[in-house]
Amino acid sequence: MAIEKQNGSVSIDAQNIMPVIKRWLYSDKDIFLREAVSNACDAITKFRMLKPGTEEAMSVTVAVDKKKKTVRISDTGIGMTADEVSRYINQVAFSGAAEFMKKFEGEKPEEKNDIIGHFGLGFYSVFMVSEKVEIETLSCEEGAEPVHWVSEDGMNFEISEGSRTAHGTDIILHISKEEKEFLEMYRIREVLGRYCGYMSYPIMLEDENAKPVEKEVPVGDEKNEDGTPKTEKVMELPKPQQINDTDPLWLRKPADCKEEDYKAFYHKVFTDFDDPLFWIHLNVDYPFNLKGILFFPKLKNDFGTHEGQIKLFAGQVFVADNIKEVIPEFLMLLRGVIDCPDLPLNVSRSFLQNDGYVKKISTHITKKVADKLNSLMKKERETYEGYWDDIAPFVKYGCIKDSKFFEQVKGSLLLKKTDGKYSTLEEYRTANFEKTDKKVYYTNDEKRQAASVKLYTDRGIEVAVMNTLIDGNFMSFLEYQGKEEDRIAFARVDADIDGLKEESEEGKDLDAGKLQEMFRKALGKDDLEVKLEALSDPDMTAMVTEDEQMRRYKEMSRLYGESFPIPDRFTLVLNRRNGTVQALAEKDPEEDNTKMLCAQVYDLARMAAQPLEAEEITAFLERSRKILGMVAGK
Ligand code: ADP
Repeated sequence: MAIEKQNGSVSIDAQNIMPVIKRWLYSDKDIFLREAVSNACDAITKFRMLKPGTEEAMSVTVAVDKKKKTVRISDTGIGMTADEVSRYINQVAFSGAAEFMKKFEGEKPEEKNDIIGHFGLGFYSVFMVSEKVEIETLSCEEGAEPVHWVSEDGMNFEISEGSRTAHGTDIILHISKEEKEFLEMYRIREVLGRYCGYMSYPIMLEDENAKPVEKEVPVGDEKNEDGTPKTEKVMELPKPQQINDTDPLWLRKPADCKEEDYKAFYHKVFTDFDDPLFWIHLNVDYPFNLKGILFFPKLKNDFGTHEGQIKLFAGQVFVADNIKEVIPEFLMLLRGVIDCPDLPLNVSRSFLQNDGYVKKISTHITKKVADKLNSLMKKERETYEGYWDDIAPFVKYGCIKDSKFFEQVKGSLLLKKTDGKYSTLEEYRTANFEKTDKKVYYTNDEKRQAASVKLYTDRGIEVAVMNTLIDGNFMSFLEYQGKEEDRIAFARVDADIDGLKEESEEGKDLDAGKLQEMFRKALGKDDLEVKLEALSDPDMTAMVTEDEQMRRYKEMSRLYGESFPIPDRFTLVLNRRNGTVQALAEKDPEEDNTKMLCAQVYDLARMAAQPLEAEEITAFLERSRKILGMVAGK
């Protein structure tokens, strides 16, 4: 029975659907190719299910004809009968569309994308780039007739007898003028590479206008005089290129993948010359299907500028990069691929956000990452410590962002110390808290704060190095974790002297009030706070401290560009065990020498904490020379 020519148009309330689809359905036009090629792959899968054991090689060909202004997507799949064309291409899509239209009327604009995502309108996305679309198809059913379908607007169509002789389908897109970029080979290759790079059947790219190129081929078995095979030059059309890898690493069993495979995959997919530090191969079949590989790249502390890349696939079809609804935000610092075949392809993001299934995936991934960190910590502590500097920004960010993740990994959080070793919080606590009053002392600049650091390390107190961008936030975060009585505080080595105090009778009777007045006068600082304490090292004259919370507040406001500057407020801590301080306490505040001594004591204390300003240095040098002269007796 020959196919009768039919004309048709779709139901009334779908008449306005195409402009809406064009505007709303996909903001990214490129995906028309993904839709068409994944339909083609589906058609092959269906064919193979229907005819198991067929030996035929199956592939999808994308052929670009710039002269004829067409892009053709051909498959060797199941094909469609005339009845199926009108059912699947015309009616199914449009009934979805009609339903969509009904909903569309009353919805808020931001929800429109959600609704569209629920309907199988994938095929129609080709109208975003085409002024005419043809389908040539032949069903693999016994005795099926080839069918031709053509439509210019996606609304009105004509079905007639087709020309295909083998089962399968050609979708021929007549690319519209505005979208002529899609007639360029490089553009199609790029889009195919992105969306179809790992689809499950070979995707071949063909240039229909390709010119024959010269090629050397052997002439039978003939040999040259020197014994090399004899060749001749012939003109040959370039062969279509396969653009995809049908057997992506993430779908293989982890046990079958070698270290080199992971590294090579990482280099290729993320164009990073460095090796990843380590990786997690996700391989879940139940209760949901999830495959993927997460790589931990070397972050090199440049956390602020680092951008990860997590590619999301749905059954080997690329969906998008960095979909934060599926992948926890902090994992975006990593690189990797996640493949969830059960995700709808053209889902909108707000739809994903509210989906319980997606939440489960996200929770699962987080847990896997935590498990990996914990197992490294437990079984390969030394290796883990070697990774820590690189992964710390990411782990810390994760803790701040996700309290569950923090709970899972808190035993594996490390503090790097100035001696180059690493402690867990618990280890630091055990080793130091008796002396430090539940404080973790830290430095954010080992060089500048070297003198202050030494005061602590000399007392056997370990000093943590907190010098990455995230550390400020991370410390504030940790200070609010756990039960009140277990909480820890962070103090920079120049923030207070709690860790340096000593029980001592020395200088107990010195007049603190008098000393404060003396220093205020000598330095011309009426509001300078001066404290008298017994410090562990009797040779230490004095030190300056700056309240931790005040300093953090100041730093924050500087970071956020506050316009009013917050002045520095140092406290001068005099060591009552020190001879110079004891002698000073006896001096006449009005004497020039007393003033000079006070200024020198103050400057020395300041210098140990941070560099002086230019004019302060000049004053310090001048004064030092005077003191030298005095000591020399001149
Ligand atoms: P979906 O793929 O989500 O079902 P589409 O609009 O992309 O929605 O496709 C509608 C239907 O048209 C498909 O389900 C399939 O039955 C049919 N179809 C589309 N492309 C092909 C093809 N290349 N070969 C066979 N059938 C196809």
